[in-house]
Amino acid sequence: MHEIPFGEIIEKLRELNAERVLIQTPEGLKGEAQALADFLEGEGIEAIISGDINYGACDPADTEAKRLGCDALIHLGHSYMTLHLEVPTIFVPAFAKVDVVPALERNIDEIKKLGRRIALVTTAQHIHQLGRAKAFLEGKGFEVLVGRGDSRVSWPGQVLGCNFSAAKLDADGVLFIGAGYFHPIGVAVAVKKPTLAVNPYSGDAVWMDKEAEILIRKRWAQIAKAMDAKRFGVITSTKKGQLRLAEAKRVVKLLREHGRYARLMAMNHISYPALEGFDFDAYVVVACPRVPIDDYENWRKPVLTPREVEILLGLREDYEFDEIPGVERREDEPLGLSLKGPQI
Ligand code: SF4
Repeated sequence: MHEIPFGEIIEKLRELNAERVLIQTPEGLKGEAQALADFLEGEGIEAIISGDINYGACDPADTEAKRLGCDALIHLGHSYMTLHLEVPTIFVPAFAKVDVVPALERNIDEIKKLGRRIALVTTAQHIHQLGRAKAFLEGKGFEVLVGRGDSRVSWPGQVLGCNFSAAKLDADGVLFIGAGYFHPIGVAVAVKKPTLAVNPYSGDAVWMDKEAEILIRKRWAQIAKAMDAKRFGVITSTKKGQLRLAEAKRVVKLLREHGRYARLMAMNHISYPALEGFDFDAYVVVACPRVPIDDYENWRKPVLTPREVEILLGLREDYEFDEIPGVERREDEPLGLSLKGPQI
């Protein structure tokens, strides 16, 4: 299903003179991680697989790699994110082998409803086919815009579940290529334009506007549930790419200024069961927006994003998705080494 370029990885490791590496993988690439470990050991490099759950490039196991005496970290499944890393890290995005053009062809009449000038976005899994998709759509008479995005994303046209900067263009609507709802719903909420999601696996196309409306309605219900809360736990994450300490402190300050009790908290894996026993009426998650938005049904207390707190306190009227913006790239920084990516 996914291409993992073993040859390029070993080349990078040889450049680094690596003798021991830690391999970190998302759920869907465990088999590939194991095959890679076997391959590397065959090449004389000791390989350790991290068994911890990983959801994104925002959570590299570089500190763990250092502790294990590894010379490098191989982070599978995600593209490079600008972070200060403690060991050289090879980000290996996993490109899906599915062809995206047949699904576009099948849904061309739906795509036309977006208008003539469209913003084209996708996830890292399909980014290598964005150029082909663009050429196909231009051949059908569309003006196709591919946004650069900010420093949190690696490639033009790439979106993350927490960053839709590449979709914010002067277009009539947004065409998302990929599976799942979280990314395209986020696009629709963040961009506030008609958004169509074309799934290259199933060949289906789904309008996200209704889904976005449902999501916003559910979020307003969470805000309403938290309206009378007096005591808030404001949680930031210790994961490198989710650590939003300044934003969390801003939220604590806002809540206190408005007469609520607020306490700053930090967690690595944020989930409700670990919070049982604390005396809070509601929580604010200042980390990955997927936690409050995807997982709120598993929380016994209301759980909000920073933007939703502003609504609760009467400081904001319109609903806004909780995006994490990119940071400035630092001259002295990157230990992060991306494998060669596609040219869009
Ligand atoms: S913060 Fe969440 S949405 Fe953003 S990259 Fe990390 S796991 Fe994905």
